[in-house]
Amino acid sequence: MKYNYIFIILVAIVVDYGLINFIENIAKTRISNEETHIISQARTHFNDQVNYRIWNAQYDGVYVKPKPNQEPNPYLINNTLKSEDNQTLIKINPDWMTSQLSELAKTGDYTFRIISFAPLNPSNFPNNFEKEALKFMVEKSKTEFFTFNEKEKSFKYMGALITNESCMQCHAEQGYKVGDIRGGISILIDLEEYFANKNDILKKKMMIEILIVIVSIIIIFLIFRVLKHTVELELKVEERTKELRKLSQLDSLTGINNRGHFMDISEKYFNIALRNKTQIHILSIDIDNFKNINDTFGHQAGDKVIVSFAKTVNELLRNSDLFGRVGGEEFSILLQNTSKDGAISFAERIRVSTEEMNILYEDKVIKVTVSIGLATLNDESNISELLKNSDVALYCAKNEGRNQVKIFN
Ligand code: GH3
Ligand code: MG
Ligand code: MG
Repeated sequence: MKYNYIFIILVAIVVDYGLINFIENIAKTRISNEETHIISQARTHFNDQVNYRIWNAQYDGVYVKPKPNQEPNPYLINNTLKSEDNQTLIKINPDWMTSQLSELAKTGDYTFRIISFAPLNPSNFPNNFEKEALKFMVEKSKTEFFTFNEKEKSFKYMGALITNESCMQCHAEQGYKVGDIRGGISILIDLEEYFANKNDILKKKMMIEILIVIVSIIIIFLIFRVLKHTVELELKVEERTKELRKLSQLDSLTGINNRGHFMDISEKYFNIALRNKTQIHILSIDIDNFKNINDTFGHQAGDKVIVSFAKTVNELLRNSDLFGRVGGEEFSILLQNTSKDGAISFAERIRVSTEEMNILYEDKVIKVTVSIGLATLNDESNISELLKNSDVALYCAKNEGRNQVKIFN
C-alpha cells in the first residue's frame, strides 16, 4: 500500500517535470525567435550602411550641392569643387554620409551612429557601451557585439568598420592600417514591445506551471482518498467475511459449534488420530424427556434449558475438546488426549453436573438429566462410524432408563 502512494507521487513528479519542461521550451523558443529576429534586423541595418559606404568610397567621395549655409567638411582634402555653371559643390566622404544618414534615421524606431576610437569629428566619440563593444571586437577579433538591455528597454548592436584604402586618405596620419578595427556603426533598437511581450510570455508560463502543480496535487489527493477508501472497504469486507464465516459455523441459540462445523472439524481430528494412532472419544448426549419440558414450561423455557446445558458443559471442557449442538436437544463432544477411563469420568461429570443444575424460569426451577453414549476410536475407518457407535450407546442409555452413561463395546 505504502508503495502505491510512493509510486503515484513519483509518476506525478515525472509527469509534472515533463510538462513544465515542455512549457519552458515553448517559452524559450518564442523568446529566442524574437531575439534572433531583432539581431538579424540590426545586422541588416548595419550591412545597408556598410554598402552605402562602399558605394561612396568607390567614387572616392561624392560631390553634392550644399544645403543653404552648409559649410564644406574641414577634415577632408579637396572638400569643394566648382561645377561648369560655377556652382560650389561640397565633398561627402563615407563617414560624413553615414553621419548625415544617422541624423535622418533619428525619427524612426531605431537609431544608429558612426563612432571611432579616435574620431576626427568629436561627435563620433564612443559612449560607454560603444567603447566596451569596440574593445571586445578588437581583443577577440570579432566583427559584431550586441546586448539586450532590459533596464533601458533597448537592443544595442555594434558592427565593426574595418579600415580600408579609402579611409587612409584622412586617417593615415593617425596611424590607421588597412584591416584594423578602428570604429564601428552602433545601432540602437527600441525594445519596449519586445520586453512587454517577453514578460507576458514569462508570466503566462509561470501561471501554467503553477496550474500544472496545483492540478496534480488535487489529482494525487483524490487518488489517495479513493485508495484509502478502497483499503477501508477491503478491511470491512474482510472483517464481515470473517464474522459471517464464524456465524455460519456457530449455533445461534447456544453460540457453540453447529452440526455442520462440528462434523467438519471432528472429521479432521479423526483423520489426525488415525494417522498418529492416538485415541479419540465421542460422547453423544441427549436431554431426557425434553418434550415434557416444552410441554410443561413452554418453548422458551426449553430454549433456556438448552442454553444452560451448553454453558455447564462449556465450563467443563478443555481447549482441545470439540463441542457441538447436532440436533434440537442433542449434543456431541469429541475428546482428545485422554484415556478411555478419563473419557468415562468426563461423561459422568457432565451427567452429574446436569443433574445438579437448577434452571430458573419465571420463578420456577426446572431440573433436567441427560443420557450419554460413549464410543472410543477402535477400528472404525471414518468419523460417521464412530458417531454411529456413540449413538448406539446413547440409545442403550435411553433404553435402560435415561440419566446414565453407556459405553459402546
Ligand atoms: P427422550 O428422553 O427420548 O430424548 O425424549 P425427548 O422428549 O427428549 O425426545 P423427543 O425427540 O421426543 O423430543 C425432543 C423435542 O425437543 C421435540 C422438539 O419440539 C424439541 N426441540 C427441538 N429443538 C428445540 C429447540 O430448539 N427449542 C426447544 N424449546 N425445543 C426444541
Ligand atoms: Mg432427541
Ligand atoms: Mg431427548
